[in-house]
Amino acid sequence: GGDRELLLNGIRDVPDHPKAGVVFKDITPLLADPRAFSVLTDALAAAVTRVGATAVAGLEARGFIIGAPAAVRAGVGFVPVRKAGKLPGETVGESYSLEYGTAEVELQADAIGPGDRVLIIDDVLATGGTAGASVRLIRRTGAEVVGVTVLLELGFLGGRELLLEALDDVPLEAL
Ligand code: IMP
Repeated sequence: GGDRELLLNGIRDVPDHPKAGVVFKDITPLLADPRAFSVLTDALAAAVTRVGATAVAGLEARGFIIGAPAAVRAGVGFVPVRKAGKLPGETVGESYSLEYGTAEVELQADAIGPGDRVLIIDDVLATGGTAGASVRLIRRTGAEVVGVTVLLELGFLGGRELLLEALDDVPLEAL
């Protein structure tokens, strides 16, 4: 319907970013449109409520931008999952492989734990590496992952297949 149109119109293709041959999905037009951003926030907040999450974990960096207002609207807290070396205090980390080399995501050790029901939010699911490592990271704190919700899924990269294996019946939703 109209909402889907509004979201799609806010996403543009940028060829050869961040390197040659990659078509980058750029959501900044959506963020700049208050109607589209509000529709997105409503949809994400509805996902938070639907899965009964008690916290949103947003993945750096666009998962912060879209996850935080959704958490506020749903009435739950927000927890940042960051690239290694950014968060102060005691942290837990999980590595994952990239095409060349590895990357690591981190969470503050006391941010969440047993009893928390966490929905992971990010803008784009590509290979699924970032979201998969975030699932493992959150589970290591004793918290439960109750879903992964993204705006957009790049189906041809197989991220869903990679992630569903780790998720084990936990819902993965692409708006
Ligand atoms: P993955 O780990 O390969 O699934 O990549 C997902 C991460 O990279 C997410 O945090 C996304 O924000 C980012 N990403 C990958 N491709 C794109 C894109 O085309 N547009 C925006 N972000 C992207």
